[in-house]
Amino acid sequence: MRTPFIAANWKMHKTVVEATTYAGIFRERMARVRDAEVVLAPPFTALHAVAATLEGSRVGVAGQNLHAEPQGAFTGEVSAGMLREAGAAYVIIGHSERRQLFGETDETVNAKLQAALGAGLAPIVCVGETLAERESGRMFQVLNRQIEAGLVSVEAERAGSIVVAYEPVWAIGTGRNATPPQAQEAHAHIRQRVARALGGDIAAGCRVIYGGSVKPGNAGALAAQADVDGALVGGAGLDPGSFAEVVAQSAAPAV
Ligand code: PEP
Repeated sequence: MRTPFIAANWKMHKTVVEATTYAGIFRERMARVRDAEVVLAPPFTALHAVAATLEGSRVGVAGQNLHAEPQGAFTGEVSAGMLREAGAAYVIIGHSERRQLFGETDETVNAKLQAALGAGLAPIVCVGETLAERESGRMFQVLNRQIEAGLVSVEAERAGSIVVAYEPVWAIGTGRNATPPQAQEAHAHIRQRVARALGGDIAAGCRVIYGGSVKPGNAGALAAQADVDGALVGGAGLDPGSFAEVVAQSAAPAV
């Protein structure tokens, strides 16, 4: 039985004051949640303050990105160790916006993954096809490449904390979510490929979560699919009430 995993990616939204106000409200809403892992990913500037606001609660904090090196002359970047010290236990890696807007590749994803695991951060690795790739029948090929290259050379002892987020690019921020059967098809395929990369035991326990226009109206139907283990939420994660509702639906029997 995999514990549902639900994360809100705030992207470049919320000042420190806005972020801590949200976190204060949200921790109260999550007080009764037991069997779900729930995570907020604020911008770097608010990460420490949000972690402090959530201290003693069951809600965790994620970085939205990291640099693969531990330190150095990399202006504007932060390392895995810095995220850990600021209060993060998780980090999002290879979000499609990072791939499309900032030139990230499967190779940089792998380097960041290794750095995250080395520092004890649980990585949330994003994969997903564009609309053109899906419509030209290349979805599985793209997912295979992203998983194989992204997860290469991961030590089995460290792999248990990896979460994979299936985020079809055409569904992110568009209001057009994958249908539950489309999500299930992709998630089952991802789990098979994770098994090839990391072994059957790791794949069986790996949370494969869905991202792309998740909201209170569709989270339950998506989470009801056998291989959908939770959600990575953008827009609907910006309001504590709507994100709490997504959590409730994604972890329905447990909340
Ligand atoms: C995302 O950016 O990871 C995302 C899934 O966004 P949205 O929920 O707004 O589609």
